[in-house]
Amino acid sequence: MKPAPFTYHRPQSIDEALDLLDRFGDDAKILAGGQSLLPVMALRLAAPEHIVDIGRLPGLDRIDVGLDGTTIGALVRHATAERSDELARHAPLVHQAMPHVGHRAIRTRGTVVGSIAHADPAAEMPAVCLALDAVMHISSVAGGRRVAAADFFSGYLTTALEASELMTAIEFPSWPATAGSSVVELSRRHGDYAMVGLACALDMSGDRITSAALSFFGVAPVPVRVAEAEAVLVGQTPTEDVFAQASEVVSNTLDPTGDVHATADYRKHIAGVLTRKGLAEASSRIGVAA
Ligand code: FAD
Repeated sequence: MKPAPFTYHRPQSIDEALDLLDRFGDDAKILAGGQSLLPVMALRLAAPEHIVDIGRLPGLDRIDVGLDGTTIGALVRHATAERSDELARHAPLVHQAMPHVGHRAIRTRGTVVGSIAHADPAAEMPAVCLALDAVMHISSVAGGRRVAAADFFSGYLTTALEASELMTAIEFPSWPATAGSSVVELSRRHGDYAMVGLACALDMSGDRITSAALSFFGVAPVPVRVAEAEAVLVGQTPTEDVFAQASEVVSNTLDPTGDVHATADYRKHIAGVLTRKGLAEASSRIGVAA
């Protein structure tokens, strides 16, 4: 199928884009890389009357590393993030997620921020944002606001973004040298959306885990952290036994959805398996092999 007719706008400045979004409200959609929006329009699941193409907006294609953290602008493509040595050093969990996002052609066009704004429950980046307590930078004609990841994802393909708002960047807190992370997932073919996935981060002091984040995707309409399993890890020395305990808590606590791709029980089981695998990978990256 082909998209329904729409009017195409290509603003040259952020202010111009915000004016258009303010003027057209719910009748407008932002176009970034188009890797999710265009298929949805082609299937006529969305039929916006106005498309606001942000591809020419200046200053949004940067990755900035500062003392407080790392900021990824709205026009940074997945492929750029995947090749970024700065991200590998300063936001390794984001970097580790990139090869899992679709296929190379999709990563060449699709943007990191677009993936977060789209909020597919099986996508990697929303779960990474939740694991790292990322902060969304959002602008509208009314001004700017910041929204924490924990308050951003509100339902299936639904976020705290209003129709008149543009997400200009995503900010990740600075990454401690004592931390390790991993992204592990199960999908039928590489590049497919995950049936179940885990974005995982561990921080250590000496031989003890001081903080843990276990953020699952593909299990619910929004990414889910399993605080009960994170609590099992904190204060422990990372060992296979401790990881197995956390894995059991994950399988017993998660209440995943079942669908045509996998039953709820299968997802629970796989989430437990991924917990052990993800924790082992994350800890090995801090030089701690369980
Ligand atoms: P667009 O498609 O342009 O926009 C997506 C949505 O976000 C739209 O509603 C748009 O209005 C909104 N939006 C975009 N930018 C902004 C902004 N700055 N502010 C506010 N709203 C904004 N993704 C994964 O995560 N994992 C996968 O495994 C995966 N597999 C895929 C496989 C296929 C075959 C395809 C076609 C896609 C797949 N994707 C996957 C989806 C894709 O990677 C991302 O969803 C996509 O890159 C989103 O970024 P974009 O720039 O293309 O956004």
